[in-house]
Amino acid sequence: MIINMAMKPMVKKTIFMREREKGLFRISELFPDRAVEIEDEDGFFQLLIQQMDGTRTIDQILAELQSRDTPVTDDELLELIGDLDAIGLLDNMASAAYSSFSSEELERYKANLNYFRSFSSLASSPWEMQQALKSAKITVIGVGTLGSGVLFNLAGLGVENVRIIDFDHVEWSNLNRQLLFNETDIGRRKIDAANEFIHRFHSRMVLDCIPGEIRSADDAEKAVTDSDFVVLAADQPHFMLERWVNQACVKQGIPFIGGGVNAVEGQLYTVVPGQTGCLDCNYLLRSRQDEDYLRYIQSCITSCFKMPSTAIAPNYMLLTGMVCGEVVRMITKTNALQSAGKVVSIHFETFRTEIKMDFASPTPECPTCGHGKGEEAIFRYFRELEKSITPC
Ligand SMILES: [Zn+2]
Repeated sequence: MIINMAMKPMVKKTIFMREREKGLFRISELFPDRAVEIEDEDGFFQLLIQQMDGTRTIDQILAELQSRDTPVTDDELLELIGDLDAIGLLDNMASAAYSSFSSEELERYKANLNYFRSFSSLASSPWEMQQALKSAKITVIGVGTLGSGVLFNLAGLGVENVRIIDFDHVEWSNLNRQLLFNETDIGRRKIDAANEFIHRFHSRMVLDCIPGEIRSADDAEKAVTDSDFVVLAADQPHFMLERWVNQACVKQGIPFIGGGVNAVEGQLYTVVPGQTGCLDCNYLLRSRQDEDYLRYIQSCITSCFKMPSTAIAPNYMLLTGMVCGEVVRMITKTNALQSAGKVVSIHFETFRTEIKMDFASPTPECPTCGHGKGEEAIFRYFRELEKSITPC
């Protein structure tokens, strides 16, 4: 990376450092897999660390060291600072993103910023990661169990622009797990109750509340427009909603994540247009692998079977956390997503995770992200279904 003399290096506050024995420093001992030892017989490292408190530019540090008769050249110092940056020791306090936050925000997001320090460097500051969340536009489709949990996670993360779409009202049976709502919300529209909660919790967060239901591909197109990321937290009309959102997101190049639970297992998946396959790739692959898959979908639709909710708060919290962790990784780019192009399941009783489907590589014959015509039986069935779709 390019280090410039105007940077103000600061040893991260999350770094634990101790002099293990005279002239030998051990760094980041709280994370044993990242521990590094540095020899410092002449005390130069200790002096440099003292200088890197975020108040001085590298230029000023160089001048200070040279004024103390410490024999170091520009190039040597830059190389050394580069080495310390490479082991994850440093932040750049001259980052423009740092000065864009108010003191209240820096206090509010203190722990977020410390978390981001696990991934930050001189070139990529924790404030930039927080700023990415702050300016991200996220759409949450459905403010039920997953969506309501996602909303307060986004509020804590500092996402300020969120669109929510929902048609439902708060019921007593929601209160075992939809903890955004309370007893006084019974009978209210979920979007109104959510808006009130968010207004009290995070006054700078703006919720664009869209009442209603997505009932067509056109509705889905409008719902996701201008989003950086979409959380699909609803599933009705069954199969259709997922496909409409998938088509809209692929067309507009917007990544999206979806998920849900049954009694003891949760699942999540992410589609990143242009990088992974999409949900129609997944349908295509599944129908090729399992000749009974289409009949399974048909019987799900024709039976109108609606599984009663088996969701308890702890299980959904776990899935919601996984989904929001992916949102963080997507927006801040701290790490690769774990569910990109995959259906990942978590078993709530054992904490075991498993990849149920892998559509990481786009399927060329896919009618949505590839050049397929959709002539396979499963897509012909979906087209027929779309013409005659009626709520059960
Ligand atoms: Zn596809």
